[in-house]
Amino acid sequence: KPISDYSHEEASLAAAELRAQLSQYAQAYYTADAPLVEDSVYDAQYRDLELLEQAYPDLVTADSPTQKVGGAVLSDFTKIKHDIPMLSMGDVFSEAELAEFDQRIRTAIKAPSEYSVELKIDGLAISLRYERGKLVEGSTRGNGTIGEDVTKNLRTIKAIPQTLSEPIDLEVRGECYMPKASFQQLNETRDQEGLPIFANPRNAAAGSLRQLDSTVTAQRQLDTFIYTIVNASQYAVETQDQALKQLQKWGFHVNPASIVANDLADVHAFIARYQRQRDQLPYGIDGVVLKVNSLSLQQSLGNTVKVPRWEIAYKFPPEEAETIVRDIEWTV
Ligand code: NAD
Repeated sequence: KPISDYSHEEASLAAAELRAQLSQYAQAYYTADAPLVEDSVYDAQYRDLELLEQAYPDLVTADSPTQKVGGAVLSDFTKIKHDIPMLSMGDVFSEAELAEFDQRIRTAIKAPSEYSVELKIDGLAISLRYERGKLVEGSTRGNGTIGEDVTKNLRTIKAIPQTLSEPIDLEVRGECYMPKASFQQLNETRDQEGLPIFANPRNAAAGSLRQLDSTVTAQRQLDTFIYTIVNASQYAVETQDQALKQLQKWGFHVNPASIVANDLADVHAFIARYQRQRDQLPYGIDGVVLKVNSLSLQQSLGNTVKVPRWEIAYKFPPEEAETIVRDIEWTV
């Protein structure tokens, strides 16, 4: 029966079951970089849990997957504290839900908003810190507050500048990903060598970055797209699209596909275009991200415990091939 018809007791049992199941999936996905199920399966169960918790707010527990950034910190790595947390992102799966998001923003800021619309790169989030223009530290998102120190590994990635075009102190965030061609090549080689293959480019990127031996990372041909300047106002940057331009000037790889949209019609056109072109791109994307373009409005909208209120991911429907259950042995 539909979730809306559950009694409190039924809802409580179902929520406990979903939490246990989602925690198990998250453990495999984030800790071992080896998912047990497709993302669409995880997303559907996550959505059910959200619905139950909305219907019965007393069922929300502090450790519910809806209340914390999913992620793991492997004990093998030195821990790095993120002074500004690296959050997760809310997601929607239809144009109607996207319109609801837009309406929430309009109501909150009492005006229509411009959006920076970007591709949602299917990799893992990284943070990079520079002092006087030199790369000094790089980390994974981890649990959002504490990440893993992967500086040595990130130094092997050619796309990441060791020295910026200006001698500034800076922290930036973005996505580390494995291009589709490198992923295919890696899996072919592993298959020939009798090693287990990776489930998808995202897991291959995460497994390759979270290595104790940086010479392994160096062989994996990882790449990056950087999209966030932490404390951007220090650098006279006022909007997200200015941030993307400035990041490029400093020497980062920035995804070329973003636009500034003035209304949802522009957003829908962008979504339709990349849903069509998705297969032709040399890297994986799992959707499109909408960000309120003004950084001061972002600041005033703020965050929930888990996600910024000023951005949302529109997730593409799963690709056909992704829904086929694979018979693969997973590995780190
Ligand atoms: P998320 O990965 O869906 O979204 C947040 C992330 O998007 C950010 O951390 C950032 O790394 C990334 N991102 C990519 N492009 C971006 C851009 N242009 N701008 C800003 N950020 C960008 O959220 P999440 O909380 O990290 O993970 C949830 C996702 O993980 C879901 O898609 C879920 O399906 C998947 N997951 C799957 C399993 C499984 O078992 N298959 C388990 C747990 C989680």
